[in-house]
Amino acid sequence: MSFSGTVKEEIAKHISGARHCQLAELAAIIQFCGRFGKDENGEDIFIIDTENEAVKIKYFTLLKKTFNIDTAKKLDNDTIWNVLQAVKVVDGNGVMHSLDEPINAVLLKQSCCKRAYLRGAYLCIGSMSDPKGSYHLEMVCDTMKQAKQICEVLAYFNLDGRIIERKRHFVVYMKEGAAIVDFLNICEAHVALMEMENERIFKEVRNSINRRVNCEAANITKTVNASTKQVAEIELLRDEYGLYNLPPNLREMAEVRLEHPEATLAELGEYLNPPVGKSGVNHRLRRLSEIAQHL
Ligand SMILES: [Zn+2]
Repeated sequence: MSFSGTVKEEIAKHISGARHCQLAELAAIIQFCGRFGKDENGEDIFIIDTENEAVKIKYFTLLKKTFNIDTAKKLDNDTIWNVLQAVKVVDGNGVMHSLDEPINAVLLKQSCCKRAYLRGAYLCIGSMSDPKGSYHLEMVCDTMKQAKQICEVLAYFNLDGRIIERKRHFVVYMKEGAAIVDFLNICEAHVALMEMENERIFKEVRNSINRRVNCEAANITKTVNASTKQVAEIELLRDEYGLYNLPPNLREMAEVRLEHPEATLAELGEYLNPPVGKSGVNHRLRRLSEIAQHL
C-alpha cells in the first residue's frame, strides 16, 4: 500500500471520543464526499461517493457512534435529514445549504474539532507522497471557499497551506517535510509520523555523508590537478634548464615533487630536509613555476 493509503488507514481507525469531534469529522466527510442522487427507483438519496473503503467505514462508524443508527439497514430520509441537521447542512429553519459551502464554523470552534475536521478532509480528498521521495501533501477541493477553510484551520495550527487551481479544482498543498510531520501530528497519525521521521533522519544522514564524500573528492581532485601541473613544469625545468642549475632549496623541492606526485603540500614538507611547513612548500613550488614559465 502507498504511504498515503497507510496514513488514511491509520486516520480511519482513529475515532474521537467526544461527540463534538465526531460531528466535526462527519461534517467534513459529508462535505467532501457527500452527494445527492437518485436510487434505482428514481427516489432522492444521499450517498457518500468514494472508492475508498476507509472513508465508508469511518462514515458508518461515526453514524453509529453519534446517532446510534443501525447502519446495517438502508438509511431512510428522516435519518439522513437528522444527520444533515446535526452537521448544519440543514439549518435551524429547515433550509438545506449546498455541500459546496464551507462547514458551519460552529462545528469547528474547539481545537479538538479542528483536528477531527482535518482528519475527515484528508481521508476524503487528501493524498501525500512517499517520504522516501520528495515531500508533498495535498487536498483537492471542488470550491475555493472549501480550500480557504482548510487553509484557515491549518493556519490555526501554524501551518501554511497554499492553494493552486488545477483542472477547475482548488488544491491545498504543503511541500515542507516539517509541516507534513506537524500535519500528521495534528491528525494524531502517530505511526505514520514515526515512519516519516525515520525516513527524514535517514535522508539527512545520507545527505551529510554525501556532502562529506563530495567535499573530500573535490579536495583530492584539486590536489591531483595542481600536482600534475607542477610535475609538468618541473620536468620542463629538468629537461630545458637542468635541476642542478637551481638554488639547492628549489632543487630539493623539485626532486621531492617528482618522487611524490600524489603527495599533499603538508606531506611534501615532511619529505624535505629539514622539514618545511605548508606555506614554505607552496612558496618554493610557486618559485619553480615562475622559473619554468620564463623558459
Ligand atoms: Zn471536539
